[in-house]
Amino acid sequence: MNADVLIIGAGPGGIFSAYELVKLKPDLKISVFEMGHPLHKRKCPIDGEKVKSCIGCETCSIMNGFGGAGAFSDGKYNITNQFGGTLYEYIGKRKAIELMEYVDQINLSHGGEGTHLYSTANTEIKKLCLQNDLHLLDASVRHLGTDVNYIVLENIFNELKDKVDFHFNATVERVRKTDDTYEIDVKEKDGDRSYSGKYCIISAGRSGSKWMETVCSDLQIPTKSNRVDIGVRVELPAAVFSHLTDELYESKIVYRTAKYGDLVRTFCMNPKGAVVNENTNGIVTVNGHSYEDPEKQTENTNFALLVAKHFSEPFKDSNGYGESIARLSNMLGGGVIVQRFGDLITGHRSTQSRINEAFITPTLNATPGDLSLVMPKRILDGIIEMIYKLDKIAPGTANDDTLLYGVEVKFYNMEVEIDENLETLHKNLFIIGDGSGITHSLSHASASGVHVARYIAKV
Ligand SMILES: Cc1cc2nc3c(=O)[nH]c(=O)nc-3n(C[C@H](O)[C@H](O)[C@H](O)COP(=O)(O)OP(=O)(O)OC[C@H]3O[C@@H](n4cnc5c(N)ncnc54)[C@H](O)[C@@H]3O)c2cc1C
Repeated sequence: MNADVLIIGAGPGGIFSAYELVKLKPDLKISVFEMGHPLHKRKCPIDGEKVKSCIGCETCSIMNGFGGAGAFSDGKYNITNQFGGTLYEYIGKRKAIELMEYVDQINLSHGGEGTHLYSTANTEIKKLCLQNDLHLLDASVRHLGTDVNYIVLENIFNELKDKVDFHFNATVERVRKTDDTYEIDVKEKDGDRSYSGKYCIISAGRSGSKWMETVCSDLQIPTKSNRVDIGVRVELPAAVFSHLTDELYESKIVYRTAKYGDLVRTFCMNPKGAVVNENTNGIVTVNGHSYEDPEKQTENTNFALLVAKHFSEPFKDSNGYGESIARLSNMLGGGVIVQRFGDLITGHRSTQSRINEAFITPTLNATPGDLSLVMPKRILDGIIEMIYKLDKIAPGTANDDTLLYGVEVKFYNMEVEIDENLETLHKNLFIIGDGSGITHSLSHASASGVHVARYIAKV
């Protein structure tokens, strides 16, 4: 055996598994395999000047590498069971919160000290939302910010690098089960190799979702998949949402549409932030982030408005449905499309000159276009309804110049069948983080890593 524990993926799930194992069982030989680059080599080539849009790098520096999809995220660390995943269904609500709080403390002691913890407790905004048929979800939000998040990851890596055997640019192609070990076939820069270990923790995240399907099929691990969230990223002057963002930083607000009864929610709010491209399996969608450093802040706030789409039998490919919609926007716009809200409402395609004349400067160079040619009517109707509702609690949201970038898709990994230890039907094979389909956030993914590490350390 090459290792005691094989960890696939160096995102928050993989990192916190390794961190906790090193702490509890320093004698274990732990190997981490990550298809992306080490942290310091992660650089998205889009600079807005020479490279304006996604050029499809072999591994996407936004999604892959040490730190996972979370490395250049806004570092909004949400301590809650109300969103971000359903880890609590497996390990219990109290334990889930305890683990999220534990990871928060580790982040603080590795460079995050001094960052602000926001809370929805006792806020008047909740009442304002309720008075307008909107629902504010409860959470404590630690805002690390992209810059501090990077420092935390760097410090954790420096602490682990001599204790854990890290393999970067190492793509795991197959996972095989032998009698009492797991073997993995790894494509590395200088050749293909196989490694084996007693325990195997897979934390492949959203970018590994397609690969996870093969793993589950090879090892006959039952899965289910029926949800995708589709929507747009809204960008508006920061002042419009400042009364919410100053107090709560991020507010998760949910609305049930009058027309279809669909749930629309705000997601990933970035005060004074920037809209960015995201490349998932070659499909360019939109996302956003912001910085703690005032020097890097913009005059705009952005957030996603997402409509949850659940499918029932016989349709199973919810992610395929989301992908097809994203592909349409890529087909029409060569990437992400941007449209003024006023143009959408009056049925006009936005043009570059109309965008230039607007009283807001876009933070992402996207192709002006018409989102109504891309989004299904039901989803677009829901988004428009929600924008008018939000205008009631944050007047100015439904302004003609408000920018909508499309499409934003939250792909949900298929849910794998795991038990309360996050162990599959195969003993010692664990599937954690976003790759398991049960977490969708930094906090839940990190907590799942700690949970599995503690279990392994105990047995
Ligand atoms: C732009 C952006 C902003 C975000 N902002 C926030 C935020 O503010 N707050 C929040 O809570 N969440 C945020 N998220 C989501 C958050 O990043 C994820 O929920 C979290 O990173 C999940 O952690 P994970 O370890 O499960 O997976 P990931 O972070 O996706 O890590 C998985 C790793 O596995 C590697 N991998 C995959 N397949 C293989 C393979 N076959 N072989 C080897 N390696 C493999 C990948 O390269 C990747 O590095 C954001 C995501 C993005 C993209």
